[in-house]
Parts: sequence; C-alpha cells; structure tokens
Amino acid sequence: MIEVTNLTKRYGETVAVDDISFSVPTGQVLGFLGPNGAGKTTSVRIITCYMPPTSGTVTVDGLDVVEQSMEVRKKIGYLPESAPLYPDMDVIEYLEYILALRGGPKSERRRRIKQVVEMCGLGDVIARGIGELSKGFRQRVGLAQAMIHNPEILVLDEPTVGLDPNQIVEIRNLIKALGRQKTVILCSHILPEVEATCDHVMIIDRGKIVANGTPETLQHSLSGKTVVNVEINQKPDTVRGALMSIDGVEDLKTYPVNGTTRCELVCRQGLDPREAIFHKVVENRWVLLEMKQEVSSLEDVFRELTKGGRDE
Ligand code: ADP
Repeated sequence: MIEVTNLTKRYGETVAVDDISFSVPTGQVLGFLGPNGAGKTTSVRIITCYMPPTSGTVTVDGLDVVEQSMEVRKKIGYLPESAPLYPDMDVIEYLEYILALRGGPKSERRRRIKQVVEMCGLGDVIARGIGELSKGFRQRVGLAQAMIHNPEILVLDEPTVGLDPNQIVEIRNLIKALGRQKTVILCSHILPEVEATCDHVMIIDRGKIVANGTPETLQHSLSGKTVVNVEINQKPDTVRGALMSIDGVEDLKTYPVNGTTRCELVCRQGLDPREAIFHKVVENRWVLLEMKQEVSSLEDVFRELTKGGRDE
C-alpha cells in the first residue's frame, strides 16, 4: 500500500507537484494520467526514492521513502521514461548484472532470470546486444530490469512512448498480465492506454489531482453525472445495500481499506445525494469518515489529453 500525503515538489519557482494526497491499495493497477508537464514523472520519482519531496510524505507499506529508502527500493521496480540500459551488454549479461546489484540469494538468481525472460518474451534475444534490439524489445528489457528483483510494486513511466502500434498492444498486454500479480502505477498521457490497462485512474493537471476514480467513474463525470466519494467505518458488504437504496444512486463501487470502506457513488445527473448519504449513515449508526463530491474540471484536461488524437 502506497500512501502519499500533502506531497509538494518545487523546482525553483516551478511548482511541479502541488500538495497532492492519494493512496494506492495493494493489487491495484493505477493509471496516472495527465498532459505533458502535469507532474507525473516528478511524483513517481519521489515515490521510487529517486529524489526527495520539497514537503509532504510518501510511505510504502508504512516505510518512509526518505528515511527508509533502501527498504522501499527493494519493494519497488521502476521503469523510467527512457530505460537505463547499457547498449554494449547482451540482454542476459545485463539482467545478471542488475540482479546482482539488487542482491537476493545467489542460488535463486538463475531461476529468477529465467522466469523474467519468459514473462517479458525475451527468450529469442537473450544473447543479443541491447544496442541491436528494436525499441519494443529494448522496452521489454527495461520492464525485465524493473521486475528482476521480484518487487511487489511496479512503476512504469510512459512505457509505450515511441513504440509502433503492434508493440504498444504487446506491452499493454504484458502490463495487464503483470497487474494480476502486482501493484502497478502506470504514468501515461494517453487516455485509451489507461482505460485499456488500469482498474483505477487518477488525473493530474498542473500539479493537482483533478479526478480520482475508476475508468467508469471518469466516464460518468464527463457525462455530467454526480460522483460522490465517501469513506465509512464498516465492511463493504455492510454498507452496499443501504447506499444503493438511496434515491438517485445508479452505481456503487466499494473498496476495503484497513477495516473501512471507500465508496464511489454515481448518481443521476443534477442530483446532490450528500444529505441522503449522511442520514443513511446516521440511521445505521455508522461513522462517516469522509465525504466528497467530485467537481468536474475534467473536461479541460480531457480535451488537453485527447487533442493529439485518440492514440499515438
Ligand atoms: P509529466 O511527467 O507529467 O510530463 P513532469 O513531472 O516531468 O511532468 O514535470 C512537471 C513540471 O516540472 C513541468 O513544468 C516541468 O517543466 C518541471 N520540471 C520537471 N523536472 C524538472 C527539473 N529537473 N528542473 C526544473 N523543472 C522541472
């Protein structure tokens, strides 16, 4: 579980990340979406211990990314926008080298490399020089280095940039498969990419989070439906029926978080269900920990994201 609290990063006068807070539950594939310059890379560099924040905190499984960075690094695999590859090395040499750097029992290394080579579809190029590979294969090697130490979390920054359409599909499928086993943060400025691979989406624009929800919620926000996020100190099964019975609630998604439940309610257009939610919670003697109606400044961002066409 990744917990980001009041994170800010300034580069001189530029505020790249402006007081953002969010959490990523274990097992989620989070799409971190935003136009170029929005602050995605800066945020993930802080989460992956590449640089410290100006203020705010990030913890990974309770470990602070500044104070306990060596521990955090073991849990995270990071594929930066341009993968840190050595073109003169063979694929196998390179993977052996990276795994040796990251440690782990020597007896396990051969087996681990074999697994990763298989997962990333590198079997045919294992003895080739990295410099000779196509961009798609180099990206696979980048993914392989990110996951070689079997981290619980994978952070991928624009992994399909510069690939041709076939390579894009292959890398997206690979990410989807990885998402079944790991927590993934995928940075992208391509909306369809996030829709195709992620189960949760966060949109960032000029350093601020402007939307946070499932791809479906995003669609609803764009279609003018009201979306309300609440957190209640109960289990999902306990709250679901009661919340769905509120007049105008059309859809409900629930996520268990440390003994409480986060709920996303999608409501009929023009309806403000907050009072009804409050009464429902009181009636059941639950505790309302948080309630927030999503205000949609999404349309601007959406236009910004899609103005270059649906894909590239
Ligand atoms: P994204 O990944 O969403 O494209 P970035 O995090 O790279 O966004 O950039 C956010 C903002 O911070 C941009 O205005 C960018 O110009 C600025 N920025 C990023 N890195 C640096 C840096 N090393 N020095 C100064 N400004 C930077």
